[in-house]
Amino acid sequence: MLIVMKFGGTSVGGAERMAEAARLAIKSAQAGHQVVVVTSAMSGITNRLVAAAEKAAEGVWDPAVRELLYQKHAEVADLLISDPRLREEALARIARRLDQLEKLCFGLSMVHELTPRLLDAISGVGECLAAPLLAGAIASHGYASESIEATELIVTNNQFGAAEPLMEMTRERTSGRLRPLLNRQAIPVVTGFIASTEDGVITTLGRGGSDYSASILGAALDADEIWIWTDVNGVMSANPTEVPEARTLREISYSEAAELAYYGAKVLHYKTILPAFQKSIPVLILNSFNPDDPGTRVTVSGRPSSRGVKAVTSFRNVSMITISGRGMQGIPGIAAKAFGAVASERASIMMISQASSENNLCFVVGSVEAPRIVRGLRNILELDLHQGLIETIEQDDNVAVVAVVGDRMRGTPGIAGRVFAALGESGVNVIAISQGSSELNISLICLENEAATAVRAIHRAFQLDQPSQP
Ligand code: ADP
Ligand code: ASP
Ligand code: MG
Repeated sequence: MLIVMKFGGTSVGGAERMAEAARLAIKSAQAGHQVVVVTSAMSGITNRLVAAAEKAAEGVWDPAVRELLYQKHAEVADLLISDPRLREEALARIARRLDQLEKLCFGLSMVHELTPRLLDAISGVGECLAAPLLAGAIASHGYASESIEATELIVTNNQFGAAEPLMEMTRERTSGRLRPLLNRQAIPVVTGFIASTEDGVITTLGRGGSDYSASILGAALDADEIWIWTDVNGVMSANPTEVPEARTLREISYSEAAELAYYGAKVLHYKTILPAFQKSIPVLILNSFNPDDPGTRVTVSGRPSSRGVKAVTSFRNVSMITISGRGMQGIPGIAAKAFGAVASERASIMMISQASSENNLCFVVGSVEAPRIVRGLRNILELDLHQGLIETIEQDDNVAVVAVVGDRMRGTPGIAGRVFAALGESGVNVIAISQGSSELNISLICLENEAATAVRAIHRAFQLDQPSQP
């Protein structure tokens, strides 16, 4: 089998964790598989890089940041890579990357302008520091390994901060570069998160994007499986930090995984599923801290649950935008204009709800994009506002989206009733509701400070802490 396996930040968070990651990769190679490793930055590093970039944009570049990053990675190298030649090689690569980082930050501290393009170049450095360490660790066990920056493999458009892969070119470059290594049983260690435009400018796939890197590479190589090694036993019925009694879902469908990831299950970057789904490649979510646990398997049918509901998620950092006006009734085109304005901001809408009286339309977008979207709406709807057809366009940041997900919800009557009864009993006020026509998701808006209560109430009402019957 060809397996693309990705290790998240905590799974490479220190020398011991990196040693375990190397052991897991080698174990699969010893079982006769071809293995491509994708690594995140060590945990906390990307946040530090972003903070350094923001400081530099204010005119402050502290060279101690470079030293600190070097020390942290050098300490790991000392503990992890026994062969002195391999260790020196890894350290030299790390030092070169840090030199570049220093130049970027120094330049930024002069010009004071942090563009999305520059932020990608700076925030993507963490992966370039981790990959040589992991490759060195694998190589010091006597397995051929090479650290490869994904800028050589994944070609994207120039949407900095959330770049999209151009799959044909990515496939060509990835095959050309990785196949020869795999054919001689070497284990490439590829940086997650980063990619580059066709002309070689570094991009990133968005925060948490290393999962997406793994599925892009898996699809490009027609891998047999994609394994996401993280710090929990797979995808669970709810966020375990919010609902301690949440259970691991042993098998879910691509559509369930995609919905859960989209509505806030941070365990998978929200775009991870699509490339795997298009090639029907199974995705496994596994715990590097508990590698014997079978984790979650994402497959076509996803072992339906008799309960209908499989999981409940919440998504914060969103804003609800409400367009209202008595004159909206029966006037065609307002929704089209509104959604056109959102699309032209390259933002996506998480949820839409319109009351049947048609005098108010509300939808949810990411908080970061909300002010831009509201400005865009005021522009495009200027005439309607002027004529009084629309009275207000409001933005409310104090909300969260809660989503209830399960393939079998389709055609199971009474689920919505039970969801809202549970919320009513727990005193959660539901602001708006939406159910996609696919019926595998009911999402609702509530106050942000009631989201955790809502999630727990729904989890309890459907007894998601109990094993499900097929
Ligand atoms: P990694 O660094 O491995 O990419 P992340 O922190 O990005 O890990 O994602 C794993 C975390 O996702 C878990 O530790 C957990 O707190 C959180 N999480 C949120 N929702 C879920 C869910 N439904 N199932 C599992 N984990 C979840
Ligand atoms: N290191 C990146 C981040 O922290 C990507 C990832 O971990 O998936 O967002
Ligand atoms: Mg992650």
